[in-house]
Amino acid sequence: MPEKCGAAEKVKPAASPAAEKPSDIAGNISYHAQYNPHFSPLAFGPEEAFYATAESVRDHLIQRWNDTYLHFHKTDPKQTYYLSMEYLQGRALTNAVGNLGITGAYAEAVKKFGYELEAIAGQEKDAALGNGGLGRLASCFLDSMATLNLPAWGYGLRYRYGLFKQHIAKEGQEEYAEDWLDKFSPWEIPRHDVVFPVRFFGHVEILPDGSLKKRITFLLNLDYHSKLLVLTSMICAVLYPGDATEEGKLLRLKQQFFLCSASLQDMIARFKERKADRVSGNWSEFPTKVAVQLNDTHPTLAIPELMRLLMDEEGLGWDEAWDITYRTVSYTNHTVLPEALEKWSQVVMMKLLPRHMEIIEEIDKRFRELVISKHKEMEGKIDSMKVLDSSNPQKPVVRMANLCVVSSHTVNGVAELHSNILKQELFADYVSIWPTKFQNKTNGITPRRWLKFCNPELSEIVTKWLKTDQWTSNLDLLTGLRKFADDEKLHAEWAAAKLACKKRLAKHVLDVTGVTIDPTSLFDIQIKRIHEYKRQLLNILGAVYRYKKLKEMSAEEKQKVTPRTIMVGGKAFATYTNAKRIVKLVNDVGAVVNNDPEVNKYLKVVFIPNYNVSVAEVLIPGSELSQHISTAGMEASGTSNMKFSLNGCVIIGTLDGANVEIREEVGEDNFFLFGAKADQVAGLRKDRENGLFKPDPRFEEAKQLIRSGAFGSYDYEPLLDSLEGNSGFGRGDYFLVGYDFPSYIDAQDRVDAAYKDKKKWTKMSILNTAGSGKFSSDRTIAQYAKEIWDIKASPVA
Ligand SMILES: *Cc1c(COP(=O)(O)O)cnc(C)c1O
Repeated sequence: MPEKCGAAEKVKPAASPAAEKPSDIAGNISYHAQYNPHFSPLAFGPEEAFYATAESVRDHLIQRWNDTYLHFHKTDPKQTYYLSMEYLQGRALTNAVGNLGITGAYAEAVKKFGYELEAIAGQEKDAALGNGGLGRLASCFLDSMATLNLPAWGYGLRYRYGLFKQHIAKEGQEEYAEDWLDKFSPWEIPRHDVVFPVRFFGHVEILPDGSLKKRITFLLNLDYHSKLLVLTSMICAVLYPGDATEEGKLLRLKQQFFLCSASLQDMIARFKERKADRVSGNWSEFPTKVAVQLNDTHPTLAIPELMRLLMDEEGLGWDEAWDITYRTVSYTNHTVLPEALEKWSQVVMMKLLPRHMEIIEEIDKRFRELVISKHKEMEGKIDSMKVLDSSNPQKPVVRMANLCVVSSHTVNGVAELHSNILKQELFADYVSIWPTKFQNKTNGITPRRWLKFCNPELSEIVTKWLKTDQWTSNLDLLTGLRKFADDEKLHAEWAAAKLACKKRLAKHVLDVTGVTIDPTSLFDIQIKRIHEYKRQLLNILGAVYRYKKLKEMSAEEKQKVTPRTIMVGGKAFATYTNAKRIVKLVNDVGAVVNNDPEVNKYLKVVFIPNYNVSVAEVLIPGSELSQHISTAGMEASGTSNMKFSLNGCVIIGTLDGANVEIREEVGEDNFFLFGAKADQVAGLRKDRENGLFKPDPRFEEAKQLIRSGAFGSYDYEPLLDSLEGNSGFGRGDYFLVGYDFPSYIDAQDRVDAAYKDKKKWTKMSILNTAGSGKFSSDRTIAQYAKEIWDIKASPVA
């Protein structure tokens, strides 16, 4: 390891910042090392090497970025703007050099300084500006928009602190600030020349001409600029943690408005910049040039803000502004969980955004008039459909999902099952008013990050057997693997690649937990946010039951058992007590099982701390079985199920979200199905309430072992109580863990048997990868482009 910049000094910078020859690249890295003001010239350790390397890669990106900007300026295509409060980006270096096609050259270049590219890439901190699936989806979408050459762009907030870092202590999960900008991000480009006013509070006044109401004044009239700076830094200080429950915080609402207002003003400026006659009008063209996609209801305020900008700033009348807004905006729903449907207090909103509240009231009024005048038959449903809910006059609220449905030209769900539930239940009443407004866009993942870069071993095999690497941008080509599903040579290569990934994963586990796991055991993984509906509790009760059976077995009987390593990872929302109890339970069970010499050859249970994108990139390639076991009807889509399947991992799962479509694609023989179906759930909950449900004795055994104190004296009663019919918490096993437990255990028995047959298992694994083509986010985004946004590819010549 060079102790000073010696090595960096000797290399001359290349003539072009976008050099592609290793010696020229090394020169550029050295240039950045020397002229980067962030580090002492004495230092060129791995961290400095990362920053200098990233900055040299950024030069390539900037060149393309500028070319693209000029290209769009000239060709003026219709463009999509994706609004998301979250982007779960992860690291960027490997992805950037990989997509630029210069990984090999960069690897060689950094070798000249004595470094491995992977080690340098490992220095980068994750940009964790999201909570889970929704934020990761936004990042996969941007990747696909770029890959498909679409005129499309994402807007988000650059939070100073990302999603918290998770430590596991004696008492369970602890949260620490994620200081990802501790030093700086080499990928950021501040644009001091692009500034828009975003205003809060104030009041509404009518101008002397009397024609329109205009919002005139605002809070920050005293030393506006310095306060504005402080205010923006506060607004973007933290990502709100929690993907299901929204914090009723004023700051959260400010964040949402800040994103919407700044983004829309930027879009309008861009729209005007591209054609001279737009500066003073020609607004009818706007929806033919701009599409705005709302990633869930978090950016709903884009609707009243666009109305306000068009009316108050641009002078349009209501009807014209409404027509433009409606034709511009579309909305993606991500959840049917009632507690996750965003509502904002009208009182709070009136105070923070009085003009917007006024516009929302008008939208609501006109919607109600529409129903009464044109859809009389729906009049009885108006209370649940309207935007403003004043059923509790003390606490009137704005229902953001209703505002989105009423104001968007298209609403979509994120998997077939979910979209059907939207049409048949959550938004059923709106379907009779707008029968063609509702669509499905099954989620997807980028195959670049989630196979090519995270699993080079398997990628190489796929390319070799398909005789092309085109699958990275045409994932349907993976079906070409099916005809080799029984080929012994492929089997040998496939199994060797999996083993290499398992060893890498085992090393990660040892590094972060100190637990040694056996790479020849079955690697069984569940990683996702900890949530009762995702049922990590079902998994851990299964593990407890497995442990108990092992304890009861003779040494001889144990010989026949399929050794298994169960890994669970995920963050629990800091105030979600039951989720934190689940984290604690997994850790407690692990501590007992892993240290029990009678069983630990056959079973280990490991909690993987601080689950994030980079951890996922190590875990998923090394996984053989993965658990997607939510109560049917509750997981809108899931996307980690797609990542696992793509990496040749077999799923044990319920018929929920995208599992349904994955099973269709990979074949039912290659998917371990169990559990209640979505349309049975309501009835089963009723049965539970009415005492008609007889729990399986195996379920009782597992709970009893935890109650006995076998895993320590922590108070698990509240957790176990929630599984009882008439718990004090009143949820009566709302997530049906007890009902699904026996079929889950049976499915796990089928897994054990299948794993013993190596040939059978490897074939299942191959057929999972082969059937994953549909789940490329390229397919998803192509559908949004054609069926919602009406935009076309516009490659830079
Ligand atoms: C893909 C991904 C998710 C989403 O996982 P689900 O199992 O679909 O909920 C969450 N977090 C990270 C870091 C991911 O990469």
